[in-house]
Amino acid sequence: MDDHNPLTGLIHQLSRLPGIGPRSAQRLAFFFLSLPKPDVAKFTDVLMHTRTHIKYCKRCFNLSFTEQCFICANPKRLPAQLCIVAEPRDLMALERTGEFKGHYHVLGGLISPIDGIHPDALRIPELMARLRTEPIQELIVALNPTIEGDTTALYLSEMLREFQIPITKLAYGLPVGSDIDYADEMTLQKAFSGRTKIE
Ligand SMILES: [Zn+2]
Repeated sequence: MDDHNPLTGLIHQLSRLPGIGPRSAQRLAFFFLSLPKPDVAKFTDVLMHTRTHIKYCKRCFNLSFTEQCFICANPKRLPAQLCIVAEPRDLMALERTGEFKGHYHVLGGLISPIDGIHPDALRIPELMARLRTEPIQELIVALNPTIEGDTTALYLSEMLREFQIPITKLAYGLPVGSDIDYADEMTLQKAFSGRTKIE
């Protein structure tokens, strides 16, 4: 790419996207050029709108445009089951399976001392506040089967012992070290229905 190429700037920005190399970036640039201008405007508008107005649900910390996310605001969801996930993308992966009808709590990460992420960086106080006020009868820990996920699950089970609520975790058919986010729906469904109690 040289500076005389009028697409250099666009290709450079597109190649910043995850998984997009220079060749894909160039292909995308030509794709955008082929679109009618209103379609490009729609694309940039929704991108900017989402980036500007998205916030965290006050209750579960899912992503939301409103104070309460669509799950918390849905009266059909079962208040007795709470599924603990690390990130909103894990919540979205579980929602795609349609297996879970309860509520979620998004921790905002996993404990990882190497990366400087300690328990106090996670939304554990908020979780404990919910356990005091909501009629929760089962906690389902749905964290990645990694060292960080296991460390966090163990920490949670210690911290939450006082509540005497049964804690289960997903039975993984996933390779160790993998991401919930990348699991196919069938595997996740099985992991959910075969969940086991954390002692
Ligand atoms: Zn919510």
